[in-house]
Amino acid sequence: MGKDAQFFVRFCFIVTLFVFARIAEGQTFTYETDNFIIVDAPDALTAKQCGDAAEKYRRDLSLLWLGKTLPDWSAKCPVKVRVGSNLGAGGATTFVFDKGEVYDWDMDIQGSKERILDSVLPHEITHIVFATHFRRPIPRWLDEGAAASVENITEKKNYQRLLLTFLQSRHPQCLPFNQLVAVKEYPDDPMPFYAQGFSIVEYLLTQGEQVGIEQTGHTPHRRLVQFMETVMNTGDWQPALQEHYHIDSLGTLQTRWVAWVGHTNNTPAQEPVPAVALVNSEYGKSVYEQ
Ligand SMILES: [Zn+2]
Repeated sequence: MGKDAQFFVRFCFIVTLFVFARIAEGQTFTYETDNFIIVDAPDALTAKQCGDAAEKYRRDLSLLWLGKTLPDWSAKCPVKVRVGSNLGAGGATTFVFDKGEVYDWDMDIQGSKERILDSVLPHEITHIVFATHFRRPIPRWLDEGAAASVENITEKKNYQRLLLTFLQSRHPQCLPFNQLVAVKEYPDDPMPFYAQGFSIVEYLLTQGEQVGIEQTGHTPHRRLVQFMETVMNTGDWQPALQEHYHIDSLGTLQTRWVAWVGHTNNTPAQEPVPAVALVNSEYGKSVYEQ
């Protein structure tokens, strides 16, 4: 690892944080695929299901986001699995960026087996797909929002419900967009950040559909990745929004997103007034700083 290597940890919170229970003493099971080694699984079937699912998500999510599959890694990613119906679903993936390379994968996942297979794994593997593709840090709200967007529908509805609660209560960590895009570290209370990032990504995917595949030949997911790429290459959100979504500024994106959140939720929370009051700030040109 060179001196300028950066060590990244993706803590991914879906329901509950930091409640990793120790596996009961006794035998644990491993299972290897081309790119993953499942370790510490409580039984052979779970190890195999997690390994096969991880490999499948790696392939399917690469196709979804990048339009191509990734080559096999030179070293497999160990995945520690903790299964328990009383464990909050979540995970943490670590890796190292160093001189344009990414390596030293390591993943911890936990939750009920169902949530691990349908939400935690696709979430974590989306991070891995992006890290493998970009080999440098990605704007965090985009990384987390995109990862959340491939979770199970139940988890996605949770984010949606939480977002409305946060917006109505004017939660201080539901940020104006010009602050949100500059966030590099996880907030102390990360759920508003996750819920907001998820919702904005959902909105951008919807907008990607409207811009149309026929115009550029790109799906909404591919368009989002290209949007990320433009932002990361230019360090400037405005031309990236204009090029990929025909939106002229972060301020416009925020205003449209607030209206969309209100429009798509048939609950008292759809009243957009608190949200507008919360996030309509003054906007200038917003630049993402590497
Ligand atoms: Zn995550």
